[in-house]
Amino acid sequence: MVTTPHEPPVHPAHPVYVIGGGPGGLAVAAALRGRGVRAVVLEKSDAVGASWRAHYDRLRLHTTRRLSALPGLKMPRSFGRWVARADVVRYLEKYAEHHELEVVTGVEVHGIERSGGDWVLHATGGRRLVGGAVVVATGFNHTPSLPAWPGLDAYEGELSHARAYRSPEPYAGKDVLVVGAGNTGAEIAADLAGGGAQRVRLAVRTVPHIVRRTTAGWPAQRTGILVRRLPVPVVDRLGAVMARFAAPDLTAHGLPRPDTGLATRQRQGAIPVQDVGLVDAVRSGKVEIVAAVEGFEGGEVLLADGSRIAPDAVVAATGYRRALEPLVGDLGVLDERGRPVVHGARCPREAPGLYFTGFTNPISGMFRELAIDAEKIARAIARRGARAAKDAKAAKGSKASDASKVTEAPEVPKASEVTEALEAPEAATPAKTSKAPKAERA
Ligand SMILES: Cc1cc2nc3c(=O)[nH]c(=O)nc-3n(C[C@H](O)[C@H](O)[C@H](O)COP(=O)(O)OP(=O)(O)OC[C@H]3O[C@@H](n4cnc5c(N)ncnc54)[C@H](O)[C@@H]3O)c2cc1C
Repeated sequence: MVTTPHEPPVHPAHPVYVIGGGPGGLAVAAALRGRGVRAVVLEKSDAVGASWRAHYDRLRLHTTRRLSALPGLKMPRSFGRWVARADVVRYLEKYAEHHELEVVTGVEVHGIERSGGDWVLHATGGRRLVGGAVVVATGFNHTPSLPAWPGLDAYEGELSHARAYRSPEPYAGKDVLVVGAGNTGAEIAADLAGGGAQRVRLAVRTVPHIVRRTTAGWPAQRTGILVRRLPVPVVDRLGAVMARFAAPDLTAHGLPRPDTGLATRQRQGAIPVQDVGLVDAVRSGKVEIVAAVEGFEGGEVLLADGSRIAPDAVVAATGYRRALEPLVGDLGVLDERGRPVVHGARCPREAPGLYFTGFTNPISGMFRELAIDAEKIARAIARRGARAAKDAKAAKGSKASDASKVTEAPEVPKASEVTEALEAPEAATPAKTSKAPKAERA
């Protein structure tokens, strides 16, 4: 789809709404604030960083601390090179505080529509919020996805999505089947194997590329950054050569080397698996590789090689959907896979003033990408704001001085304004920080 770099300017009277208080949304809000543009973050849960609060306990960033910092605030050295999940949450809390971001929690945006030159957001409690621009940062991993497995509805065994997995304790002594060999499935299988499960099997449909998190101190992420712009066939070849040196051959254990190149796979949406324990677990037999799941029957799981197994529990690490259709499905801004047709500073031609961040899955690291896109989006919106101020000035002569406020540092609203705005469903300016009143939540 064609996009336009020349959009109508931001309406000076309305804030920019950022939907989602994860790292992507917070980064954009901070970058906007840094340019004097008022941004209000709407977060459906009761705190920032909701995704990271819900991830499994042992998770650490597999991208380095330095390369995962968001604009305007480093992660402290005390977090170490591979930042623990809880420290990511702490960082995001600190980030919102440090940049004095306006975050309204407990407000879910259900739909967005264009109205004149502005955007109208429909949100929890019947709110109708008017924004000069909107940034959608609702997350790549929005809604857990399960394949349409035959027999799933009648399956008598225990089955959960990886999103619900926190630690191996509930699985102690159990025979567990993990489905899906992406980063999440690989790590959960290793976690279960080291955490007391009696037997762990990993069902693999497409053999993943497995890379070491570091080789001789050099992080895989840095390689990802270096090769990012190279042609796909070149990266595929480089990846194959590196794999021969750096990744052990697990063919004898059921994990042959992939027959599709690393960059080709990434184009198809699958980034390589960073090894944080799977290789050792497979080599030692603590994790057994089995064929892909084809369906369910009674209490059994049917595998692609014709075998049937009856594990005590199934953990489906089968990915997520972006689930953007209810929000922007009517606007013609999604591709056939449900992903936005643009990211960063570009808006869809049909939707000037609508931006997306966090819907790509680069091998160079998502946090890094979110940080880069935040600056690009903020720059584009600030430019539009400056243009609006200039146009208003030209149109209104001396009276236009008010309009130029859009490029000035935002004023912090008074607490009374905040409460009033949140309580009024028709509010055009929603809030400064804190929770929406409980009575109004959906
Ligand atoms: C297990 C796992 C490990 C990862 N590890 C790394 C890593 O090591 N390094 C890296 O760079 N990346 C990593 N990622 C990828 C990515 O960086 C994270 O998923 C990151 O949290 C994405 O940030 P985000 O802000 O785009 O989305 P999210 O963090 O998912 O935030 C989206 C926010 O939007 C809110 N929201 C959703 N819909 C609405 C709505 N309609 N209205 C209001 N609010 C809404 C959600 O509650 C949520 O808080 C990992 C991802 C996963 C799943």
